[in-house]
Amino acid sequence: MSLEELYREVILDHYRNPRRRDALAAPTAHAEGHNPLCGDEITIDVAVSDGTLTEIAVSGQGCSISQASASMMAEAVTGKTLEEVDTLTGQFKSMMGIGDGADPIDPERPGATLGDLEALQGVKKFPVRIKCADLGWTTLEEALSSD
Ligand code: ZN
Repeated sequence: MSLEELYREVILDHYRNPRRRDALAAPTAHAEGHNPLCGDEITIDVAVSDGTLTEIAVSGQGCSISQASASMMAEAVTGKTLEEVDTLTGQFKSMMGIGDGADPIDPERPGATLGDLEALQGVKKFPVRIKCADLGWTTLEEALSSD
């Protein structure tokens, strides 16, 4: 299996079996994101306690890239401090070739922090889909800044 096929499998797995869909009992922040270019929608609830993102619930509809990326993000940020979430967000955007480049990923160990999210790096080749991959992250940033 080529790396490209492996990445496609990871994306499809998250699309078909999205993680962290269960509604939260006591969310502390909420945001809704929309990508009009593709029709993708993402709704996020988070619970933040003592500077840590303890729980997240993601729901939405749209293309496989947008939904899979949000699912991977949900897994990656759960249990992280807000500072770590911010770094991870920067690293993801760096990988996608967007953002301010303040948090570059270590080229020696790119998977050490991003995990399954690495599967999305191929999306960079399709500029119109980058917004799909980024939607969940932008929505999360919105939720956390409204907190
Ligand atoms: Zn899309």
